[in-house]
Amino acid sequence: MSTPVVTRFAPSPTGFLHIGGARTALFNWLYARGRGGKFLLRIEDTDRARSTPEATEAILTGLTWLGLDWDEEPVSQFDRAGRHAEVAHEMLASGHAYKCFSTQDEIEAFRESARAEGRSTLYRSPWRDASPDTHPDAPYAIRVKAPLDGETLIDDQVQGQVRIRNDQLDDMIVLRSDGTPTYMLAVVVDDHDMGVTHVIRGDDHLNNAARQMLVYRAMGWDVPVWAHIPLIHGPDGKKLSKRHGALGVEEYQRMGYPAAAMRNYLARLGWSHGNDEFFTDTQAQEWFDISGIGKSPARLDFKKLDHLTAQHSSVADDAALLHELEAYLAATEAPALSAAQRDGLLRAMPVVKEKAKGFAQILEKAHFILTTRPIEPDEKAAAALDNVSRSILKELTPRLRTATWEREILEGIVTEVAQAHGLGLGKVAQPLRAALAGRTSSPSVFDMMMILDRDETLGRLNDAIT
Ligand code: GLU
Repeated sequence: MSTPVVTRFAPSPTGFLHIGGARTALFNWLYARGRGGKFLLRIEDTDRARSTPEATEAILTGLTWLGLDWDEEPVSQFDRAGRHAEVAHEMLASGHAYKCFSTQDEIEAFRESARAEGRSTLYRSPWRDASPDTHPDAPYAIRVKAPLDGETLIDDQVQGQVRIRNDQLDDMIVLRSDGTPTYMLAVVVDDHDMGVTHVIRGDDHLNNAARQMLVYRAMGWDVPVWAHIPLIHGPDGKKLSKRHGALGVEEYQRMGYPAAAMRNYLARLGWSHGNDEFFTDTQAQEWFDISGIGKSPARLDFKKLDHLTAQHSSVADDAALLHELEAYLAATEAPALSAAQRDGLLRAMPVVKEKAKGFAQILEKAHFILTTRPIEPDEKAAAALDNVSRSILKELTPRLRTATWEREILEGIVTEVAQAHGLGLGKVAQPLRAALAGRTSSPSVFDMMMILDRDETLGRLNDAIT
């Protein structure tokens, strides 16, 4: 039996959940979920100066909004410092690491003269081969022994075989003289202990992989499958930055994108499956594979996001979409829906969600059901309700009062009244729309009449006539 897949997302809690981080999390989630594996979360909070609980909270909230559920309790890297130190000492005991008594001043002095003489500034500790008898009774760091020649091969599933010359690697510190583990050690120990089989992360960590390999070798641990993915670029092809607009996922929620569309969009950022653009979570989980990840950076494309949003809105479950819309209102600090508005919106949902490019557009289309009588027409709508139009609406009213409330029948009646005046349907639909919605753009008048029902339709027409 093959080992079950375990992936992880390992954010540093120093700010919001970045769009690039969200995509990394999504790839790991898809990979695990599609293979019945586990998707774990590790908060890399070893940098005490930069890590905050608020950032951890923001990351968890962002993942939750995106619908990326993780297995087990999130692991705090900082909490595992004792275990990291234990591994450093194991490497020491097995001779793969050594005690280095060099002081900061000595290291700095070495670097300065190396720079002056044009030599490599990689620190070569004189303690690597020192006999324990010569060890002073002083604080020491633990350094792992890097091979002196040859090369380290990273067999990366995205980047291919990446070779790093070992003379480029120094004996990195795994445990500082104050007893705290370094980040590079912590990552490896945690990935090992958490049983991580596949590490999918940004290619800004590719160089770290070569150094992390030292620890795997020293401990004799299996190296996980590595896949270093290209970062996301802005629409202009440049490294993503603030000037490209939204960077935090919560901003995308506030812009009104539904999470399902966002997942689809992010999945396509740097990964492809033939020509498929629009897909469900189930399809994405089934299809996602590392081999579909491209080698060049993907570009943000808001047009594509809007397009996918329209497609996802159209097929979304009405109640689920309403639920998400309410979360959007809360996130944007907009007033919550009343019970009546919620009911009305649910009835209108099949119509207003059609091709909607986000929640703002859904609310805009749903304006007619969210407002209450008397409808306050905007300027254009007021102009459409001139005297002639009003008299036509007046004629329409008694016929609607007795009609069977079915779409085709309503269409027939409005068409007949228009024809009796030698007018096209549109000419009557315009004041009708103005009376029902108070706007000149809205869903179709017949859709509105069906959703509003007879009493409300007649009430609004009466208000407009009188
Ligand atoms: N904490 C690192 C980051 O946020 C990720 C490290 C890793 O995935 O190995 O960039």
